[in-house]
Amino acid sequence: MMNDTAVDAPAIEPAAGRQARLAEVLACPACHTPLRLDGGDTIVCAACGHHGRRRGTGGASQLKFGGFESEELTADALNRIKEFVKKRFNTVYPTAIKVLSPVMDRNLIMPFLRSFDLDRDLVADFGCGTHRRDQRVICLDGGTYPNVDIVTDLRTVPLAGGSLAGGISIAVLEHVPDPAEHVAEMHRLLRPGGRMLVFVPFMQPFHASPYDFQRYTEVGLREQFPQFEVLSVKVGAGPTSGMLWTLQEWLAMLLSFGSMRLYRAILPLTWILSPLKLLDLLLVHHPAAAVTASGFVIEVRKPA
Ligand SMILES: [Zn+2]
Repeated sequence: MMNDTAVDAPAIEPAAGRQARLAEVLACPACHTPLRLDGGDTIVCAACGHHGRRRGTGGASQLKFGGFESEELTADALNRIKEFVKKRFNTVYPTAIKVLSPVMDRNLIMPFLRSFDLDRDLVADFGCGTHRRDQRVICLDGGTYPNVDIVTDLRTVPLAGGSLAGGISIAVLEHVPDPAEHVAEMHRLLRPGGRMLVFVPFMQPFHASPYDFQRYTEVGLREQFPQFEVLSVKVGAGPTSGMLWTLQEWLAMLLSFGSMRLYRAILPLTWILSPLKLLDLLLVHHPAAAVTASGFVIEVRKPA
């Protein structure tokens, strides 16, 4: 079939285009010397000898410079199940979580991504998990999921300083012991004027992925980005989400009489209450929403 609209369309598929752009800004995570992809499976820094690996070819290739060991991802019982489902059902996992989870995320991520010209601006997802929010966004994560472009420690990303126009970090900073080091790496990677959108939880139960270290109030979150200008802080998930997740945990405890086996069996049944999260469509706009919000979204800019 002739397609007369395809004349001006780019000739390369989005994934291959993303990989080609990534190759231009690849740099050693240890010494920041530019790295060249010469077709081999091992990528070695000519300056310091630090090396990474490449698996697959073209649009399907994945670079690995560190990241989690599989034992780390399976230490926590609930996270072990999550990791199994994430790897086995990679493409449907984000949708399943969206439906079953007690947390209703406000739709702030896609409008943020659309504020860039993604055909030209390089934007990365710091800790993408199993999400691929746009074919042109670089996916970074410590976990080896099929959608990840670079498996890496997010404190030492193998990209050149100033190479990114933007980035997102969704529910990641609570899972690291040293958020300031992660924020500093975001600052290094962004070009002047570049922007980050960061979601962190406030009222959420403990959830290892593979670890869980902290929560943030609205004012506490503003203090985490001293090198940046804060453009906005919004309630990213509302008070009903905050209450529901805790209620589900509480019900599973109340009805399991001290048995962890019973608790784990009951917990999924409490997900039947999750649709109540729709009330947050309303409550997220309440002037007191920040008092018990499930989480906050901050947008920051690297000063020009
Ligand atoms: Zn090096």
